[in-house]
Parts: sequence; structure tokens; C-alpha cells
Amino acid sequence: MLILECPCCGVRGEETEFHGGGEAHIKRFGPGSSDEEFQGYLFAKENPKGVHFERWRHNNGCGKWFLAARDTMTLEVYGTYSAQTHEPPKHIREAITAKRPGWTWREFS
Ligand SMILES: [Zn+2]
Repeated sequence: MLILECPCCGVRGEETEFHGGGEAHIKRFGPGSSDEEFQGYLFAKENPKGVHFERWRHNNGCGKWFLAARDTMTLEVYGTYSAQTHEPPKHIREAITAKRPGWTWREFS
């Protein structure tokens, strides 16, 4: 069972309390980008076996979006944080390193 904690209102609940919104920290490509960049933005998503960063919405609560770092194999949640964050907070990256030394995800480690 996946248990998440909304960093906006502090409510902790099962994943049915929330709604998954796909991959986090996606670089968006707009006007002036190449077709390959835009295609990659739309369709090329990570699907790792292990550490992953995702967008979630507190659907049955405050309604706000946030980001979560979790392990896709164990469902362990390393932490949740504001959706207005451009990279995972240091304390979450350190928590992941403590459990999964040598992990990488995109440009993060
Ligand atoms: Zn909330």
C-alpha cells in the first residue's frame, strides 16, 4: 500500500486519497523547440524499477499538487515536497542515498 503525506496540508493517507499526475521535474519545450524535443516532452517518460519522482494531487483534500520521491519496487516514499520545486530537496536525496546508494534519476543523484 502506498502511503503519501500532502506537504501542503499535512494529511497522510492511502493513495486513493490522492491522484497521480505522472512524472515530476519534466523540462517543458515550447515555441522554437524542435519536433524531437517536443515529441520527447510529450511521450518519453521514465519508467524506472526503483527511485522515481512523481506529481500527485491531493484530490480528496486540499486539492493542491505536490511532488513525491518513492521507490516503484517497494512503494517506500522517501518524501513529498512542494510542486514549485525545480529539483528534489537535499534531505530527500540524502534519504534516498541512505537506502539506495548510487541511485540516479535523470540528472539527479
Ligand atoms: Zn493536502
